[in-house]
Amino acid sequence: MSSLQQRNFQSGDTIMEQGKRGDSAFMIESGRVEILIEKDNGLVQQVGTRGPGTIIGEMSLIDDEPRTATIKALEDCSLLEINRHEFNRRIEKSDPVMRMVMQVVLTRYRDMLARAAILQNKNSMTKSEELEREYAEKSDAVSAIKMANEFEHALENNELSLHYQPMIDLKTKKVNGFEALMRWHHPEKGDISPGLFIPIAEETGLIAKASLWAFETACKALADFHALGGEYSDLFMSVNFSSEDFINPSLPDILLDTLTKSGLKPHHAHLEITERLLIVHPTSAKDTLEKCRDLGMEISIDDFGTGYSSLSYLHYYPIDILKIDRSFIKNMNDDPTAKELAKSIISLGQNMGMKVIAEGVETIEDATEVAAMGCDTAQGYYFARPNDLETILNFLKSAEFQF
Ligand code: C2E
Ligand code: CA
Ligand code: CA
Repeated sequence: MSSLQQRNFQSGDTIMEQGKRGDSAFMIESGRVEILIEKDNGLVQQVGTRGPGTIIGEMSLIDDEPRTATIKALEDCSLLEINRHEFNRRIEKSDPVMRMVMQVVLTRYRDMLARAAILQNKNSMTKSEELEREYAEKSDAVSAIKMANEFEHALENNELSLHYQPMIDLKTKKVNGFEALMRWHHPEKGDISPGLFIPIAEETGLIAKASLWAFETACKALADFHALGGEYSDLFMSVNFSSEDFINPSLPDILLDTLTKSGLKPHHAHLEITERLLIVHPTSAKDTLEKCRDLGMEISIDDFGTGYSSLSYLHYYPIDILKIDRSFIKNMNDDPTAKELAKSIISLGQNMGMKVIAEGVETIEDATEVAAMGCDTAQGYYFARPNDLETILNFLKSAEFQF
């Protein structure tokens, strides 16, 4: 398992020492360090400082030569340590072209550093405000790297959970299914918004494992809902997938296997995807989606109306459901255009034989309006906020909706 360890140093601590070997570099998360070089005559000279978002000791990732400088903490510092083994593992995993380019760049970098050391004095004249700005920008990148690193452990450490938000059939006014939404409770930082961690998990490819975990967990929860019996025994579960999930050609079989193990039928699973998937992986997405559809699962387009401008893809891909993005519903009462667009999406979907779900229904007026427009299903804070399994199980027992 890969790992970037967090290391804390206090002001004045030595982080690395000139002449000594080491196999770790450090990304600075917070605090500042100074780079010192001891000359042949014994004089120690500061050749530069570094702050958040920069890397120190990077040469030790490349070879086993002794350090050419000493680095000390100028203030209390928090660093992320990356060692040579982990660095090489990440390079090995990358695309072959990237690997080759990296190797050339790293070798040249060593030569360049030797020359740059002579010019470093210039660097110390850089204005401190400029450095501050630079550090602030780069520290966002370090936060993302750190979060990806922590997310990798979140699954194993049971820090992830799912919340379920009921969906309401606008004709029967009864719950007909749920959307599963991922939650991350970080042991120190508390709840982290999916708006923050999902994009990072997607960029690093970590989402694939998390999506399968979410699907399996959601299936088990749905089996619990079905166990209530009666009107609850045929509810569906809608799970969000990312484009990266569709790289895996065995996805349909894995999903079917998971459904079967939970005692569910394929039609109980709705796969929520965004238009982005169809742009990023047009061919593989089509094959995988068609397989899922042939097996009996339903495909739902999330945030419909916000992504892609061409509608021709609606014919090309197997799509069962359109979810109208909540921005249309939110603005419906003040903005006649948003209302017309919502109406048009409902007609468009229904003319193509699809079901339409309105997201972000927050008021009784929104609910009445989307029902009058002929929308099939609605979801939103007016009916229920997403909540944990136990809360939603209790909620179902007394749920009654008026609009
Ligand atoms: P989404 O798929 O569009 O999910 C709906 C979001 O709208 C959820 O936010 C939900 O809590 C929120 N919401 C529901 N009803 C209302 C309402 O009436 N008003 C307003 N203002 N918001 C409402 P959440 O849970 O923060 O999730 C944010 C996004 O993170 C999701 O947007 C989805 O894109 C992503 N996400 C969440 N869970 C997963 C997951 O398991 N896998 C993947 N790939 N993405 C996920
Ligand atoms: Ca969704
Ligand atoms: Ca959505």
